[in-house]
Amino acid sequence: MDSFFREVNGWIYFLGLLIWLMITIWGSFDIRSNYFVKTYCKGKTVGKTIAITFDDGPTPITKEVLNVLRKYNVKATFFCIGTQIEEHQDIFNAIFEEGHLIGNHSYSHDKKIGFFSTKKVVSEIQKNDLVIEKYLGKKTLLFRPPFGVTNPRFERAIKQTKHFVIGWNNRSLDTIMDDENKILKRISKKIMPGGIILLHDTSAKTVRVLEQLLLFLKTENYTVTPLDELLKIKAYEN
Ligand SMILES: [Zn+2]
Repeated sequence: MDSFFREVNGWIYFLGLLIWLMITIWGSFDIRSNYFVKTYCKGKTVGKTIAITFDDGPTPITKEVLNVLRKYNVKATFFCIGTQIEEHQDIFNAIFEEGHLIGNHSYSHDKKIGFFSTKKVVSEIQKNDLVIEKYLGKKTLLFRPPFGVTNPRFERAIKQTKHFVIGWNNRSLDTIMDDENKILKRISKKIMPGGIILLHDTSAKTVRVLEQLLLFLKTENYTVTPLDELLKIKAYEN
């Protein structure tokens, strides 16, 4: 009897191991699984380092943002929309000429992008890659999905386009909230080493919040670094 149970136990153990192996192999090779697509929402650092990112530009407001960043000698990252780049080419050029990083934020930023097929998402990303490359002269490896969308179709698309997906851990809500002090308070409360702050270079309000934020970071002894340094990843293909 004893040896019978030992044998059954052995088989159960073996079956368990087999199932675990199969799941692991499936996860590694099946393109439908989310096993390897990672979203970077913060950097691993214990030092007081933080990154500031701007979405949805370039717009005429971007120039004012660049002025503030220059005044405080800070380098940021701009996730640009293809149609906006085509409309404001000079402003787009000014961003990287001043030493800031450029990321891809889709070609159209369509409100329904969360419902797009994988093929359409790939085309949104690649079309903007080409627009960026035309002016910047190289391909950006940084991509931030519009509205922070993550779904299996985006995951599949990103596996094809091979970008680093960049999120945030400090959302300012600067496009939703009107009170500048409240926006600043909201950001300040969530400041932490390795953090990624999300702002939008689309309103004069954000320009004023940015200046106050940079002063606050200075008094807190924080250093603002570009995303590639914070996350220890490559921003561009070459
Ligand atoms: Zn956006």
